Amino acid sequence: MSTPTAYDIVIIGAGPAGQKAAIQGAKAGKRVALIERERGIGGSCVYRGTIPSKTLRESALHINRLRRASEAFEFRIKPDAEISALLSRLEEVVQTHDTFMSKQLRRNGISLFHGRARFLNDRTIEMQSVDGARQQFTAEHFVIATGSRPRNPPEFPVDHEHILDSDSLLSMIYLPRSLAIIGGGVIGCEYASIFALLGVQVTLIDRATAPLQFMDQELVAQFVTSFEQRGGQYLGGQTINSMAWDGATQVVTILGDGQIIKSEKLLVALGRQANVEDLNLAAAGLQINAKGSLSVNQYCQTDVPHIYAAGDMVGAPALASKAMEQGRRSVRHALNLPIGDALSTIPLGIYTIPEMASIGMDEKAASERYRNPIVGRAKFEEIARAQISGSSDGLLKMIADPRGERLLGIQIVGESATELIHLGQMALQQGAMIESFIDSVFNFPTYAEAYRVAALDILGQAAKRDTAAAA
Ligand SMILES: Cc1cc2nc3c(=O)[nH]c(=O)nc-3n(C[C@H](O)[C@H](O)[C@H](O)COP(=O)(O)OP(=O)(O)OC[C@H]3O[C@@H](n4cnc5c(N)ncnc54)[C@H](O)[C@@H]3O)c2cc1C
Repeated sequence: MSTPTAYDIVIIGAGPAGQKAAIQGAKAGKRVALIERERGIGGSCVYRGTIPSKTLRESALHINRLRRASEAFEFRIKPDAEISALLSRLEEVVQTHDTFMSKQLRRNGISLFHGRARFLNDRTIEMQSVDGARQQFTAEHFVIATGSRPRNPPEFPVDHEHILDSDSLLSMIYLPRSLAIIGGGVIGCEYASIFALLGVQVTLIDRATAPLQFMDQELVAQFVTSFEQRGGQYLGGQTINSMAWDGATQVVTILGDGQIIKSEKLLVALGRQANVEDLNLAAAGLQINAKGSLSVNQYCQTDVPHIYAAGDMVGAPALASKAMEQGRRSVRHALNLPIGDALSTIPLGIYTIPEMASIGMDEKAASERYRNPIVGRAKFEEIARAQISGSSDGLLKMIADPRGERLLGIQIVGESATELIHLGQMALQQGAMIESFIDSVFNFPTYAEAYRVAALDILGQAAKRDTAAAA
């Protein structure tokens, strides 16, 4: 065994969290080692999550646009269309991303190693390469950014052929005729709406009466309506009695209420579980919590102060954007650099069709905090840009304090929601007043105009309250 190599910071995992942690460390002039067990860099975000699912989504939207443009010709996608054709640009996107990231790591002088890392003690890591060679690293600080994988409880017999998880879903060769999805979280809902738009008969099943319980339920109701208008079915309030491949053509799922759902394929989408097993955390003095991940403080510091953890491995929300920010802030904290409080305003973006996005308080949270917040609404059907593009199933909700003065949050469902939310985010971070949306001139026609319409709605309601109070 060679003597350990000393670094200032050693980071385990080259997904979004690990990459941003590494770049931050190098930019501060530190010697950084980044250890990744896979050949490529980018984590589940690049290979099994964000980029593949959004590439498929783009194909679904593109096909839908073609379908709408050629309604007279009854354009229809082939029933046995190959998934690879629908992911035609994926390899190119992944390759471009990989090349860009590798260059960025090299340019910043980050040492990238490929192998599986585990702690020997709280200051030493051992990495085993695919050829079995072992190498040790010591450091002042460590960042664990090992991400997560699909949570597949044993009662759901995932075989990756008929019963799939989100890692194996896109390895299907052909587009199935029918797909049952267990789990109404982000991944379940995104795939449900994508496959429904591609013409697959989708049944989305969940314990809760409505999906996406953490989102504003008015937005969710609009999503469910759009999904069902496209032929999808949401079955809420359900438990699963059994699920099995019939050995011939279908997966047969028996629900708690006795309903039998038969589908060509089934997706288990029951959340994520942190990758902690390989790390030998006990040797570093660390313990996993009841959720199977590491607990951290607001600076992503674990119970061992020089060991940080960031991204999916510390739990929800499992978002690449959050992972990047946590990677960055963990290293800034380790190096005593100013951090800022951006974590309180992380936006949520859900790439369902239609999209959803959220920042700050929703109506429920605002009602718990203030007795009577004012909620302004702008329906996309009132917005010229949405009328032109034929995508008027959208809504922007602006939440204000009971006087209708200060912005508390924004919730959006509809075309471009995940982009539009950033205008609200900037306003929220600056402590903007509702009037500032009325004093601003927006391009016409734009979706952003919805902000002005919602703000006017708030001012109208505030004026009525004042009149009622004066009477
Ligand atoms: C289907 C799907 C769609 C998604 N869509 C979106 C989206 O639209 N927007 C969004 O923001 N997020 C999305 N996400 C979530 C996003 O992909 C994750 O939040 C993000 O990848 C988490 O980054 P991370 O760095 O924490 O972990 P990961 O990306 O999982 O990276 C962890 C890395 O650590 C490596 N590793 C693990 N153990 C070891 C070890 N012992 N030694 C060395 N290396 C190790 C892994 O190989 C991996 O490369 C989606 C996820 C899925 C599954």
